[in-house]
Amino acid sequence: MIVKEIKCQSILTRAGGYLSNVVSHSLNPYTGCGFGRSSCGVACYVQFNPWLVQSRTWGRFVDAKTNADAVYLKTVKAERAWVRKRKTPFSIFLSSSTDPWQPIERKYRITRKILSAMIEDPPDSVILQTHTDRIVDDMNIILDLSLLCDVRVHISIEGDRERLPGLPSPPCSLSKRLGALALFAKNGIATVACLSPLYPLKNPDTFFQRLANEGVGAVILDHYILGDGTADGSRTLKSALPKAMAELNEASIHLSYRDQMADVARKYLRVGVSSDGFSGNFS
Ligand code: SF4
Repeated sequence: MIVKEIKCQSILTRAGGYLSNVVSHSLNPYTGCGFGRSSCGVACYVQFNPWLVQSRTWGRFVDAKTNADAVYLKTVKAERAWVRKRKTPFSIFLSSSTDPWQPIERKYRITRKILSAMIEDPPDSVILQTHTDRIVDDMNIILDLSLLCDVRVHISIEGDRERLPGLPSPPCSLSKRLGALALFAKNGIATVACLSPLYPLKNPDTFFQRLANEGVGAVILDHYILGDGTADGSRTLKSALPKAMAELNEASIHLSYRDQMADVARKYLRVGVSSDGFSGNFS
């Protein structure tokens, strides 16, 4: 892994594309992702962003924005004012193109420092999105922040299998990710399990019931078709993911599978579908 310490000029990025319906800003403490060689990295849409990747191998580099908290505090007032003019909430997605709790976070604690900066000058709401239970390291600070603004913890749990055939292992075991969601739910934080992209489920009823029993507030079901930034899933079709999914269940590579699974999930949980779910619209 090639790690570079960098100084960023800005840290609050005004949201574009599907994210503009979800939040006003995204915030990425790192460029690149230490989970890029694990299962989620296989079809991770960020690797197709040439501006971010700059011809480097996905999963083999991380740029750590060591001044991110200071830049947040320096720019937050102007960004809030920009949002206020549009009469929309000042809301932050942490993170859209990296994992805030990837392994290198334990060395740099950039995400933790950003959360502390948010306590000094909070947004209206923040979505914390991760693939790992290491978010629990920051439980106390997240609880403090939740007293000042709306906090939603999203943990990606694509399905009920530890591994898909032919794909690398996930960044974190299923049971650890479920345990982290349960712990946040127990502490009164809004929690969402993100099945994004949705993998073929072994036993949908048992899985959704288990999430409900753990106290998870809602699920988001997002298929790679529409969910990878293209209308037909063409980015993901270049990866090994569709083949691995089809090997287990041919139906799962079609968008209709998402809707079938949403019907099952609604028996147990509030459900958001694709970007609507990320916007917090659950039914
Ligand atoms: S954790 Fe997120 S950003 Fe990192 S490789 Fe996986 S999907 Fe991509």
